[in-house]
Amino acid sequence: MLQLHELDYHLFLEKSPESVVLIADGKCVYANQSAANLLGLDKPEDLIGQDMLDFVSSLDVEGLRSIIEGRAKGEKQPLRYEFKLRRIDGSEIDAETHVTMINFEGRSASLAYIRDLTEGKQLENQMRVKLEVLHRHAVNLVNMNSIVEAMEYSFDIIDELLGFSNGAIGIVEEDYLKFIYTRNVSSDVLPEMPLSGKGITVRAVKTGKTQLIHDTRLDHDYVKDIDEPDKLSELDVPVKIGGKVIAVINLESEQPNAFTKEDKEIVEILSEHLASAISRIEQLKAIKASEEEYRMLLDSSLDSVVLLSDTKILYANSNMAKLLCYDSASELIGQDISITLADEEKELVRQRTTSRQRGEPQPDRYELKLLRKDGKIVEAETVVSLIEYKNKPAVLALSRDVTERNRYERQVMALHRHAAALAQAGSYDEVCKATLDAIESVIGFHLLAFMAVREGVLISIGNRGSPPLDRALPLDGPGVTVKAAREQRSILVKDTRLEPDFVRGPTDSLSELTVPIVVDGQTVGVINMESIELNAFNEMDQKLLETLAMHVSTTIINLRSQEKIKRNIEELERSNRDLDDYTYVVSHDLKAPLRTIKSFSSFLLEDLGDRLDETEKDYLNRIDAAATNMDRLIEDLLLLSRVGRKFTNVEPVDLNVLLEEIRNDQVAVIDEKKAELIVDDLPTIEVQRIWMKQLFANLVNNGLKFNKSPNPKVVASSVTDDENYLFSVKDNGIGIDNKYHSQIFKIFERLNSTEEYKGTGAGLAISKKIVEYFGGKIWLESEPGVGSVFYFTIPKKKPIRSGSE
Ligand code: ADP
Repeated sequence: MLQLHELDYHLFLEKSPESVVLIADGKCVYANQSAANLLGLDKPEDLIGQDMLDFVSSLDVEGLRSIIEGRAKGEKQPLRYEFKLRRIDGSEIDAETHVTMINFEGRSASLAYIRDLTEGKQLENQMRVKLEVLHRHAVNLVNMNSIVEAMEYSFDIIDELLGFSNGAIGIVEEDYLKFIYTRNVSSDVLPEMPLSGKGITVRAVKTGKTQLIHDTRLDHDYVKDIDEPDKLSELDVPVKIGGKVIAVINLESEQPNAFTKEDKEIVEILSEHLASAISRIEQLKAIKASEEEYRMLLDSSLDSVVLLSDTKILYANSNMAKLLCYDSASELIGQDISITLADEEKELVRQRTTSRQRGEPQPDRYELKLLRKDGKIVEAETVVSLIEYKNKPAVLALSRDVTERNRYERQVMALHRHAAALAQAGSYDEVCKATLDAIESVIGFHLLAFMAVREGVLISIGNRGSPPLDRALPLDGPGVTVKAAREQRSILVKDTRLEPDFVRGPTDSLSELTVPIVVDGQTVGVINMESIELNAFNEMDQKLLETLAMHVSTTIINLRSQEKIKRNIEELERSNRDLDDYTYVVSHDLKAPLRTIKSFSSFLLEDLGDRLDETEKDYLNRIDAAATNMDRLIEDLLLLSRVGRKFTNVEPVDLNVLLEEIRNDQVAVIDEKKAELIVDDLPTIEVQRIWMKQLFANLVNNGLKFNKSPNPKVVASSVTDDENYLFSVKDNGIGIDNKYHSQIFKIFERLNSTEEYKGTGAGLAISKKIVEYFGGKIWLESEPGVGSVFYFTIPKKKPIRSGSE
């Protein structure tokens, strides 16, 4: 049970707007002013000590008495009931009481709140009607299209429900309150109020609480407007979205106490509806703005754009229409996407589009063949993304025309294949043919000319599609082709009629593309394409032709260096031949005087033999020996000069047989030195027999000759690989120091004295010349005192050489 102390309940009850009486033993022990008012008494004291049943209509006295008595006996009785209250003047009103049992100064007492139902019921009914009206209007309010419209409508509602409407609606913008709508006040009043300043309306914004002012003169925030009559009452209701004050409804009246609690309640409810109306309008504005922005973005996109819902085109931009050759995007909108697709793509796109909209992962970038309105195909690279459009999943597809790019890629590939053929060209005629072939297959058949620069003029060296130019074009003359050659740059003429430099040739060309071929900074030629069609060539063709021209110039550089090498080799061969001729002639001519010397020195010896002393005989013998030696040298020189000149046929030679012949030739030496010549299994090769024999004989000879071993041994063997025969002649002779390895191949170079080892020093020089004539190489490995191995190779593929004597 509630314990109430006097001080508490006095403070509490006196303030209460409700009518309260405290009843103990049926008598009133306390009442507040409201209760006195309700019962028609002047002051609460008049009620103290009164029997409360005296204020109950005779109709309800019995009922109430039994409730009170029952409660006193501790029975359970209702605490809230309605009854007819009889005021002191005898008038009766419907009332309701709500009783709380409390402990009052040690006794049980009833604290009764009494409410006048007559007035309450009326108010309640009025309110209910008003609220119904409000809610009906709210539906319209929320559908308003602009904030001002919503405000105007709000004031209409206020007008209808409150019976008057003077005021304004302000919107909070940063630190200001801007009145964007006023009613029945001149509109230049309160255009803008700083939120930092005074004013009851401002306070409503700042506190977020409704300000109901019955008498503004008592409010220190009231700001009087000089041009307007005093507003004695004011109602300011903040409009909030998400707890934030965004606006305020301001109502004013020149009368004090113009607004009731109910008015306040109604405007507060209205403010909530206005808040949702404003927030919806703002949202719509934002959506519309973003949608417009989006549309603008797509419209101005360089790509071709379509927006699909399922497979239906919701939107297409003008680029898409252009790409597909439609007159306008609206022709596409509403159509099924399949009308824009090549037959082979339809099924794939349908599958991908539907499963993408179901949220299944799909590739988002692929190449598609699109179908133009005129039935032609466009190759496009398409990037797709799933977006939300008007709350539904939609597919946004951005396409880019890659027909040209793909064509260019294919052409570049083809060009590279041709470039390989071009690189193989062995002559200018072949270069010209390969170039024209490449253009024809890569760019297409046109009027083609391959022209070369010769002594300041351009002459046609190859043509396709048109007869060759019958005259030379001087480089300083007129014409696009000549200009391209002279200025070393490509010239693309899309309409020859508009080109002042164009000179009409044998054909009526309307477009032309000329690309110069430049080698080492010099124009060596031009590739010229013409067409009787307008605009036949584009920048891609130009690029392709330039690439081709680069390949041509590389090929020409190669050809030139090959030619140079060939010329050098020919030159070298010629001078070698000259030298051989010279050697041959000189050696030949030296033989006759030598023979004379030899003859006459031997005549002298024979005729004067007895008359000569020993010294004189010795002199003559020496002359004879020197002449004999010189004869050998000359013989060797002749032999050397004959290598490669003496015409001998290539024949299959069994080298085993050849080596047996050499053994027979050398049999005296072999026997004398108790030497051994071992011949491993040697191949049969196609070769000039006499030179091969000379070569092996020299090496075997040396192996036996430069050998001090008690058992001289010479081994001839061979190894064969795919390209070469490799032969070796190995001995266990005196060996040769490394530093002499190149010297010994020079003519007449000898390391040892003639007394010890006979010879002229020409053998290895002749051997080397023979090996090189065969196209091979000769070298050696040797260790002094141990032995030497001479190696030489003979290529299987014979070098083409001419021999003559
Ligand atoms: P020649 O045999 O007439 O002296 P070559 O041209 O055949 O002339 O040889 C040149 C020199 O190389 C020889 O004088 C010798 O000094 C050296 N030589 C050649 N073959 C051998 C070998 N098998 N062993 C050692 N020395 C050699």
